[in-house]
Amino acid sequence: MTKKNTFQTPIGTRDVEPADAARWQALISAFQNEAELAGYGLLHTPIFEDLGVFRRLGEGTDVVTKEMYDFVDKGGRTMALRPEGTAAVCRSFVQHRPPTPWKVWYHGPFFRYESPQAGRQRQFSQLGIEAIGSADPDVDVEIIAVAAKVLEAVGLKRVLLLINTMGDADTRVAYTAAVRDHLKANITELDASDRVRVDDHPLRVLDSKHMSSRDVTTRGPQLRDFLSAAAISHFERVQTGLGALGIAFAIEPRLVRGLDYYTHTLFEFQASALDGAQNTLCGGGRYDGLVEELGGPDTPGIGFAMGIERMLLACDAERTYPAPDIRPQVWVIDVTDGTSARDLTHQLRASGHRADRSFDGRSMRSQMKAADRSGAVVALIVGDSELADGTVAVRRLRESADQAIIARTDVVAHVAQVLAESPAISTPKDEDIQ
Ligand code: ATP
Ligand code: MG
Repeated sequence: MTKKNTFQTPIGTRDVEPADAARWQALISAFQNEAELAGYGLLHTPIFEDLGVFRRLGEGTDVVTKEMYDFVDKGGRTMALRPEGTAAVCRSFVQHRPPTPWKVWYHGPFFRYESPQAGRQRQFSQLGIEAIGSADPDVDVEIIAVAAKVLEAVGLKRVLLLINTMGDADTRVAYTAAVRDHLKANITELDASDRVRVDDHPLRVLDSKHMSSRDVTTRGPQLRDFLSAAAISHFERVQTGLGALGIAFAIEPRLVRGLDYYTHTLFEFQASALDGAQNTLCGGGRYDGLVEELGGPDTPGIGFAMGIERMLLACDAERTYPAPDIRPQVWVIDVTDGTSARDLTHQLRASGHRADRSFDGRSMRSQMKAADRSGAVVALIVGDSELADGTVAVRRLRESADQAIIARTDVVAHVAQVLAESPAISTPKDEDIQ
C-alpha cells in the first residue's frame, strides 16, 4: 500500500475550529459594538498591497526588514501580505480622500515571519481602529476608551494601561540621535542583544529586559527634557481625559513600541495573566507624519491594533468570556423515513431555534445517542405510531427526561415554550453571533 500525502497547517498558522471560531466571532462583534457606538465604520482593505505601503513603517524595524511576507507577482510587481493595518488604512485615506475626521475600524488576518510561540504566530488576527484628520488630544482619549471598553466587555480585569509620549516628529528625531550617542558612548555595558539595535533602532533599547542595558538608559538622555510645550500640554490633556473617564493608567517613559511612525501619545494594554514576551493585548499611538509619507497632505492620525489570539489567551487565563453556545437546542429523531426530520428541522429553524438531526436512516438507539451527544435540550421523536396519529413525542434531555405527546401542528409552539422555561439554554443573542 502506498502512503498518501497528508498536509498540515504551515508553521505559525492554525485552524480555528467551530467552537473557538464562535468565540472569535463574538469578540469581533463586541469590538464592532464599541467601535460603532463611538462612530467608527468598518473598512476592508486588501490582504496584500504594494510593498511600498509597508516600507513606510520604518526601514529599521524588524517588521520591514525581517518579517515581511513579500513576493513578486506574475506581473513583476513587488507585493507584500499585510503585516499590520495602519499603513493600509492611511493608503486608503490618501486614495479616497474622505472627509475628516475619518474614523474606521477593521479586522482580519495579518502576516509576519516571526518565531512562533504561544501568542505569536505567522498568521495572526487583529482588530483595530484609526481616526485620521484630527490632532485633538481628546481623540487619543476616545481611542483608548474604545479599547478599554472592549476589554471590559469580555470581562478582562488583570490589564494594565501604559502610556507615554514621543513628542512631535522633530522631538523624536532629536531624542533618537541623543539616545544613540549615549548608547554608543557606553556600548560595552549594553547586553549583546541590544548592541545590534544601537544604529538602526536605538529607542528599542529603552524597553530592553536586560538590567545592564537598563542601567545605561536610566542615566542617559530623558525624553521629557526634549518635549516642546505643545507636546507636554497635549499629553496632559490626554491624562486629564483618561482620569475623567475613569480609565486607570500608568506613565511608562520606556514605552516606545516597534514601528517608526509614532509621535505624541503611545499606549499599550498589557495582560498580567500572560507571559511577559507576549503580554501586549493591544498597542497603538499617534502617527502624525504617516499620511504625508504615503503621498497625502500633512494629516494627523491615531489608532491601535488588538491581537485576537492574545485576547482569547488572556480570557482563558482569567477564565472569562466562554465560547457562545452553538449546540443545537432541539434534536429531531425520526425512525420512519426521515421526512418528518426533514420538515420539522426546517420549521424549527424558521422559528429561530437551532435544530439538528441524524441522517442515513440510523436506528432509534443511534439517533438517541446522537441527540444526547449533541447537548440539545429537547428531542422530538417521530415513530410509526406518532406518524399515524399526527403527533410528536417531546422528551427533555437534560434534567428530567420526561416525555409528552404533542399534536404535530402545535409542536413548534410547544418547543418554544419548553426552551423559554429551560434556564440552561438560550437562543444566542444577536451580539453573540454575527
Ligand atoms: P509585540 O511586541 O508583542 O511583538 P508588536 O509591537 O509587534 O507586538 P503591533 O504591531 O502593535 O505589535 O500589533 C498589535 C497587536 O497585535 C499586538 O499587541 C499583539 O496583540 C498582536 N500581534 C502582533 N504580532 C503578533 C503575532 N506575530 N502573533 C500574534 N499576535 C500578534
Ligand atoms: Mg512584534
